[in-house]
Amino acid sequence: LKKKAKGATKAGNKVELAAVLGAGIMGGGIAYQSASKGTPIVMKDIKTEQLELGLNEANKLLAKLVERGKIDAVKMGKALANIRATLNYGDFNDVDIVVEAVVENPNVKHAVLAEVEDQVGEDAIITSNTSTISISYLAQALKRPENFCGMHFFNPVHKMPLVEVIRGEKSSDLAVATTVAYAAAMGKTPIVVNDCPGFLVNRILFPYFAGFQALMNEGADFRQVDKVMEGFGWPMGPAYLLDVVGIDTAHHAQAVMAEGFPDRMKSEQRTSLDVMYEETRYGQKNDKGYYVYE
Ligand code: NAD
Repeated sequence: LKKKAKGATKAGNKVELAAVLGAGIMGGGIAYQSASKGTPIVMKDIKTEQLELGLNEANKLLAKLVERGKIDAVKMGKALANIRATLNYGDFNDVDIVVEAVVENPNVKHAVLAEVEDQVGEDAIITSNTSTISISYLAQALKRPENFCGMHFFNPVHKMPLVEVIRGEKSSDLAVATTVAYAAAMGKTPIVVNDCPGFLVNRILFPYFAGFQALMNEGADFRQVDKVMEGFGWPMGPAYLLDVVGIDTAHHAQAVMAEGFPDRMKSEQRTSLDVMYEETRYGQKNDKGYYVYE
């Protein structure tokens, strides 16, 4: 991966080389989006098969663009060459920004953030794509919390325009501005939001999921609920959306929201999400969730 000379803009440092930690649903999508919009990115995971999945996904999305005549084969080759998949921290001392996109578990994230901070240069901005965990809380793992903020993409990354940039208690203006600039360079619409569990979008989405779980406990059929919400004009219903998000991710995120907003989000009742999580029905990522995928 080539890195050009560093240049600062008024808005924030320009990102010449990025990195993403985790090559799952989100990490793979972030790598594709960055690479296809011209910012080289190092994609690190701890599992080779996940790196392969991430690269295959990028390949598929780019091939679709070629098929539709939006890019040619040369551009596709360039975009793919912009992604370097790795199991180690080799190139990390050169990166301008890191997007952490590993599992939604505060302890794992604390460990991974502390680890990556030791691998990057002092000026590098570190961000987290956490869905729900407070950025100020995650920052406690870091020696340079001022260089850290949230960068929350939505799924699927290549389709969803919004990116929440979350300002933690200690995030510097430069960290926020650099993250906003990177999101814009990726063709996204960044909005800066305050820090709290779930930020803005998931403070609305998770109570909606809780409403769905309550209906399920009253005996509703998830297929019917999905049909009703589609009829209401939403692109998909809650059960299908949970399969897309990942049951494991949604289950972890639900726990963070329940802890953050116990009066509104805590329920003593076991839900269909709990049952599927225990049965490792993780949704589309392992072909079975509310629905079964062939
Ligand atoms: P995922 O389960 O698809 O992928 C997680 C990846 O992290 C896996 O490939 C795993 O091998 C890797 N990983 C675990 N530990 C690691 C480590 N120490 N170093 C590097 N890689 C490691 O999960 P996902 O859906 O991509 O979610 C990732 C993050 O993005 C979570 O914080 C989640 O809350 C957030 N997020 C998810 C969605 C969604 O709809 N799925 C949307 C927005 C944000």
